[in-house]
This record gives sequence, C-alpha cells and structure tokens, in this order.
Amino acid sequence: MILKTLAIAVVLFIVYIVFFKKNREKNIVKKKDIKYEDEMVECPTCQTYISTKESVLSNGKYYCSKDCLKNK
Ligand SMILES: [Zn+2]
Repeated sequence: MILKTLAIAVVLFIVYIVFFKKNREKNIVKKKDIKYEDEMVECPTCQTYISTKESVLSNGKYYCSKDCLKNK
C-alpha cells in the first residue's frame, strides 16, 4: 500500500515537472518572439513583403521605406 502511494506520488511529481517545463519553454519562446519582432508584413503602399526589423513603423502600420510612408 505504501509502495502504491509512493508510485502515484512519483507519477504526479513527474507530470507536474513536465507541465512546468513545457510552460516555461513556451514563455521563453514568447519572450524571444517579442524580443526579435522578425515578422513578414505587407507594405500598405506597394504591397511588398518586408520584415518588421527593416520597416518604417507609422500609426501601427509597417512601410518598406520612407517614400512609401509619404505616398500612402
Ligand atoms: Zn512600400
């Protein structure tokens, strides 16, 4: 009976660790996404796809260049 209880406790402990680890890994991935912000977006003026890193951000929209920002 004690062995059975111990076995259940160990299984629960392993399940807890696996879930905890998964959540932590998810959080790390989310943080990375926010940090790098490397996402492909469409320029509203010329419909060219550019990465958010190289884009010009204005009013929540990503433009490929300052020219497109002016000619919007
Ligand atoms: Zn453009």
